[in-house]
Amino acid sequence: MDQWQKDLKESIHDVETLEKVLGVPAESVREVVSEYPMRITPYLLKQIKEKGDAIWKQVVPSPEEAYPDTACEAEDPLHEEKDSPVPGLVHRYPDRVLLFVTNQCPIYCRFCTRKRFVGSPGTLTPENLDKVVAYITAHTEIRDIIFSGGDPLMVVDKLLDRILSALRKIPHLEIIRLGTRVPGSLPSRITPAFCEMVKKYHPLYMNLHFNHPDEITPEVSHACGMLADAGVPLGSQTVLMEGINDDPQVMKQLMQKLLAIRVKPYYIYQADLVRGTQHFRTRVEKGLEIISALRGHTSGMAVPHFVIDAPQGGGKVAILPEGTLLHLDEDEVIVKNYEDKIFKYPQPQSSKANNENALPVIAPLQRESCH
Ligand SMILES: *Cc1c(COP(=O)(O)O)cnc(C)c1O
Repeated sequence: MDQWQKDLKESIHDVETLEKVLGVPAESVREVVSEYPMRITPYLLKQIKEKGDAIWKQVVPSPEEAYPDTACEAEDPLHEEKDSPVPGLVHRYPDRVLLFVTNQCPIYCRFCTRKRFVGSPGTLTPENLDKVVAYITAHTEIRDIIFSGGDPLMVVDKLLDRILSALRKIPHLEIIRLGTRVPGSLPSRITPAFCEMVKKYHPLYMNLHFNHPDEITPEVSHACGMLADAGVPLGSQTVLMEGINDDPQVMKQLMQKLLAIRVKPYYIYQADLVRGTQHFRTRVEKGLEIISALRGHTSGMAVPHFVIDAPQGGGKVAILPEGTLLHLDEDEVIVKNYEDKIFKYPQPQSSKANNENALPVIAPLQRESCH
């Protein structure tokens, strides 16, 4: 057994141990845990500094999970099951698909979009892998596959190797992405052998999941460094959550720390309308405020897209703070910068050439002044 598998075995998953180690009364969360499993790795447990801190809230079950907002929340808010042509695959967008290879995760995030099935036994079977490969082979428009949660790094190298190798035989499948929370919650999983294995399947990207700057530790930095050295471009995804990271300064620190360990912030998600997670959700204005606090104020590389994954399978919609584009017409654009200063950008006059009523084109070099 590898070290990471031993670490996983020592995780907290029952309410008695939770009570003993963290003082949460077992009875207060017994029901919740029977419906939505718990797992806290020894590594992540060490990162909890005090009751109710940002890491605690993400992994320690709460009685609030038993009080769903039945009017707005759903087991499958993104309607992934409706968009699933074969078991384990979600095909929503024209050129890319999601693949679920396992129901297991290193930790069970209490706000998880896939609370409906994570933690129950189950791994992609050879028959279903054949169906997935057949579907993608038949759909030549698919050029990108995303291994999503359950966490693909929870399966042993040999099985992941087999799945990756089957997919790599499909000529039109250009890129492979692995979505994982492993580097930030079970860093011992990132071994030299794992890096050697994934290296064979480039272009292979990884999108990691981080929600708070306290998650960026020396262990995590080391694990991400190994992946980056294996040539894996690393991105991050963050879920915006009440009392965890709904603060521009906390988010700025997280994004800067991610860049420093060679992880490029990719998405900040508005929390999904998952059953029993209303205590995590923020108002959408908060996300816009965070983007405004990042753009211009720190490296552009540190600014992710803020997205709402539209309920009922509408897909991700990126939203931006209002008021940066103040005016746009045929001649000019007026913009406002991060300091609220206003600037005029003249439109290229040559584009008017396409217009019947346009003035004769003025060659750029002959132009005397900028209008
Ligand atoms: C998020 C998601 C993707 C990938 O979206 P990108 O914006 O390309 O990262 C693909 N399919 C589904 C169903 C998704 O939810």
